[in-house]
Amino acid sequence: MAYQTINPFTNKVVKTYENHDDAYVEDALTKAHALYKKWRNEPIEDRAKILHQVSQYFTDHTDELARVLVEDMGKLFTEAQGEVAICAAIAEYYATQGERFLEKQPIETVMGYAHVENHSMGVVMAVEPWNFPFYQMMRVFAPNFLVGNPLLYKHASNTPGSAVAFEAAVREAGAPEGSCVNLFINYDQVNKIIADMRVQGVALTGSERAGKEIAAEAGRNLKKSSLELGGSDPFIILDDTNLDEVNKIIGQARLYNAGQVCTSSKRFIVTEKNYDKVLQMMKDAFAKAKVGDPLDSNTTLAPLSTNKAKAGLLEKVHAALDDGATLAFGKLNENMDNNFFEPIILTDIDRDNSAYWTEFFGPVGQIYKVKDEQAAIDLANDSNYGLGGIVFGGDPNHAAEVAGKVETGMVFVNNFGGTVPELPFGGIKNSGYGRELGKLGIETFVNPEMVMVN
Ligand code: NDP
Repeated sequence: MAYQTINPFTNKVVKTYENHDDAYVEDALTKAHALYKKWRNEPIEDRAKILHQVSQYFTDHTDELARVLVEDMGKLFTEAQGEVAICAAIAEYYATQGERFLEKQPIETVMGYAHVENHSMGVVMAVEPWNFPFYQMMRVFAPNFLVGNPLLYKHASNTPGSAVAFEAAVREAGAPEGSCVNLFINYDQVNKIIADMRVQGVALTGSERAGKEIAAEAGRNLKKSSLELGGSDPFIILDDTNLDEVNKIIGQARLYNAGQVCTSSKRFIVTEKNYDKVLQMMKDAFAKAKVGDPLDSNTTLAPLSTNKAKAGLLEKVHAALDDGATLAFGKLNENMDNNFFEPIILTDIDRDNSAYWTEFFGPVGQIYKVKDEQAAIDLANDSNYGLGGIVFGGDPNHAAEVAGKVETGMVFVNNFGGTVPELPFGGIKNSGYGRELGKLGIETFVNPEMVMVN
């Protein structure tokens, strides 16, 4: 497969990269493993200091790094700046909090004195996607760096510029050779790395298909894995909701990053009382979306990341319409230039419709009308996914109770959602397993070694 940046807005090939051969991979593995051994004898504070520098580097180079993201996958420049900022925040979070999370935990035992001490495990292999090329990387790099697990990674073939820039950024900030290595490799080479005894963990963010393949490979080789896959997150609007609050966010909840977000709201579930108003709000918000050059601050809707992504999304929308969905807003402007996809809204989706079970990775909203709150919860849970979700209601305590009934990995009440370093990120069901970010995120690839002393 070719690692190539094709600017989604101009459709021009920016740069093509050579694949790395097996000798390059072996060299990376050797250096990473040697670093793991060395780090076992070095204080964690040394790595925390470098993580501070990484954070500062991302802050100091925000615009330069943001431009790489725009060129690679077409997101809006302002959104790219936000992505760099969250990267800086994640690095800083683990630099300041990580050591505390790894402290020894004494255990009461009839056998005498015991404790659990948290150790690094070895080299971790990450496979990362194109929708947030730096943020997804930082979620894996920062905690593992602090723990002492060197990272090798295979980034998406359409965002090689970001892959190279991430490696360069952390190296220039002071991360040692072997601590974070980009590999332009094929799937077979990934499998060989997973099988290598020096590698002890595999982290993937991507599609369900990739999740099944990588988890199978990890399982075959008895390697711990974490998977952050897709989602079809519900946005439940209860009867007593202040709709003005919903109105402020409904467009962005679906259209941020051109709708290519695993946790963006994809299924809006509204009780009868508010349905017509919410549908109108969504139409108004979508009508305001302005496509254009992602570098232009007047643009509010970016192009999709690739021709392939657009073709895949169109195929899913056609299947939904063939299965009986109504196109309640927008039109399928298939030949729009620059990979743009005008926002659309689908209604009248029943369980027999493929759309009911599909993740739409783009500006496609689905609205469901339900008779009451229980029906809203039931519909939210009647999904093969379980990544995130949002519940809006006039009584925050009651809305929080409803949120607790939604079967998902993360749920936000009366809030747009989003991501911050301290909140654990991950899902259940086909959305994957394991967590990134927060305290849980640093524990993923840690050996909690029990030491009993008599
Ligand atoms: P993929 O899952 O194919 O790609 C994600 C990453 O996994 C890429 O680096 C890809 O490499 C790699 N990959 C895929 N299969 C394997 C494998 N068997 N072994 C090693 N590496 C592998 O996602 P797509 O880009 O094709 O997107 C398809 C759909 O996936 C989207 O429409 C969306 O529904 C979902 N998705 C979800 C994301 C999330 O944030 N959870 C992110 C991206 C996609 P390469 O690019 O070289 O194929």
